[in-house]
Amino acid sequence: MIDPDLKYCPKCKDEYRAEIELCAACGIVLLLGSDMMAAQNQTDAMKNSRKGAILPGEDIIPIHKGALNELKAIEKELESENIGSLINKEGGGCSSSC
Ligand SMILES: [Zn+2]
Repeated sequence: MIDPDLKYCPKCKDEYRAEIELCAACGIVLLLGSDMMAAQNQTDAMKNSRKGAILPGEDIIPIHKGALNELKAIEKELESENIGSLINKEGGGCSSSC
């Protein structure tokens, strides 16, 4: 859990005393726990404001072409961010095979 009075490294999430300025491991400026929590809440709010799964009739924009296992990995990533995605076979998918 984040303590608002301690400092945290935004990169490795290490916890430091309030008087420490830089992360010993990463060398980047530490954030106060309260700032970390604000940033976290902002990220959550952004995530929850997304619509999630693609609904029928919605516009679909192709973002990547590649091997299926690669696409599956991207799909998982998008899903964890609550972004709807769809994997389609090249050449229109459903029109020929189903
Ligand atoms: Zn660090």
